[in-house]
Amino acid sequence: MTSARTRNRMVERLRAKGIRNEAVLRTLSSLPRHLFVEEALASRAYEDSALPIGFGQTLSQPWTVAFMTETLLADGPLQKVLEIGTGSGYQAAVLATLVPQVYTVERISPLYQQARVRLSALGYKNIAMRHDDGTIGWPGRAPFDGILMTAAAELAPEGLLAQLQIGGRLVMPLGQGEKQQLMIYRREAAGIRAETLAECCFVPLLSGLY
Ligand code: SAH
Repeated sequence: MTSARTRNRMVERLRAKGIRNEAVLRTLSSLPRHLFVEEALASRAYEDSALPIGFGQTLSQPWTVAFMTETLLADGPLQKVLEIGTGSGYQAAVLATLVPQVYTVERISPLYQQARVRLSALGYKNIAMRHDDGTIGWPGRAPFDGILMTAAAELAPEGLLAQLQIGGRLVMPLGQGEKQQLMIYRREAAGIRAETLAECCFVPLLSGLY
């Protein structure tokens, strides 16, 4: 149920659904997604579906993780990426396999603690984590050349756009409830250029700490 063969089947499904970046596909085929969810859900970890991680939050379906990562990396390699919404830590682990330095912020303390233990047990040394409201990004570590938000907001947070270096990009779900679109915002010398990528469904970005 959680073997390399099961993971490879998942990757073949992602390929069939249009994911093209081989480095992303390799990363998903090597990562033990079942270790990022409760044991009772482990047997469903390689289905292409979102899974609950507690506190009303969800780990996105593999296609969404792959597509967001592929989109973030589409214009070339990145050095320093910020994720808003650590959740289980799975997306952070995917990024850390592909990018030299990953920063990730989570507002729910128990999820932050769990992800911290999990990622350190798995040996990741290039993920810096913080329990904070990610709406303000991580000013002390800015600028970033990529930012990935895994919770939906009604507007691209100004503070996050400001923490992108020129040429950097923010990939995030925009909108409320069931009407959401995955967006990419590119910071160019002349300003911000926005592009709509796909329909999507994420939990909302909330403010404050828990
Ligand atoms: N990337 C995660 C997906 C988690 S779901 C994973 O791979 O498992 C989205 C996460 O965003 C939730 O854990 C939620 O608590 C968090 N979140 C929502 N609003 C936030 C905010 N303002 N700052 C930081 N994290 C936030």
